[in-house]
Amino acid sequence: MAVTFDLPIVDHHAHLRPGESALLAARNFAKAGGSHLFLATQNYLAHAPRSLEEYRRQFETTESIAARVRKETGIEVLSVLAPYPIDLVHVASETGLVAAEHLQLDALELAAKEVREGRAVALGEVGRAHFPVDPEVKQALDRVMGTALRIAHETGCPAVLHTEDLDERGYAEVSEMTRKSGLPPERAIKHYARTVVPSAQRHGVTPSFLAKRELVREVVREPGPWFFETDFLDDPARPGVALPLETVPRRVRQLLGSPALPRGDVVEKLSIPFVEAPRRLYGLELMRRSPLTIEV
Ligand SMILES: [Zn+2]
Repeated sequence: MAVTFDLPIVDHHAHLRPGESALLAARNFAKAGGSHLFLATQNYLAHAPRSLEEYRRQFETTESIAARVRKETGIEVLSVLAPYPIDLVHVASETGLVAAEHLQLDALELAAKEVREGRAVALGEVGRAHFPVDPEVKQALDRVMGTALRIAHETGCPAVLHTEDLDERGYAEVSEMTRKSGLPPERAIKHYARTVVPSAQRHGVTPSFLAKRELVREVVREPGPWFFETDFLDDPARPGVALPLETVPRRVRQLLGSPALPRGDVVEKLSIPFVEAPRRLYGLELMRRSPLTIEV
């Protein structure tokens, strides 16, 4: 039976490299019913940027991938820009910690300028290492993260966080840091959330859940705001490292076809990640151009 679905279908966190593989992935996303993609920047060079100029080129590359995907697939692409926190760890070993920290701060200001001028919608990924680092490096990362949250607050945009997996204590810590910076905790978005920590234990921080099948079934029972993401990476050297880009639209089809969930409830729940959370956190009114017909 055919069902008409007229909500946008949004992947809240993906990476694409310049070139044909990005277009291929984006076309698959569109074909499956995807309409909006939050495109997070990444290092396109073989090394972490060592100068502000290299970050400028990196951000321009992200914006040009976004423009090309928009033009050639009709998908709306929203850029998310920031110096990757782990860059600091690499650059510090070459130039020293002080210079590496300064570079991160300069690059954050540059990313904020892109948001203010409408070429990006959030600062991300910002945050800390997901693996053990030296205490002085950890302190530097925490300082940069605090500054990133403050800049997000001043810029009036969300901060997309790269961190270790967060349990209640982790969420409480992030929430406290966010509050201190002036940013409302819900505008701190924990990207790559792999488990459902109940909303009462998230201390106001918003999770962006990895769209794994079992996790998605659990997540749709959660009160908002939250997002779905794949953290897609079209890196030929690491095939299969992340979920395919068509995963979020596929999960929509699965949920709509699930006999265990009333269809009206599913549509209402899906308006959380696709309509309400983008509106509330980003001030974006996402709409799909034409309704999608889904066979269930
Ligand atoms: Zn990412």
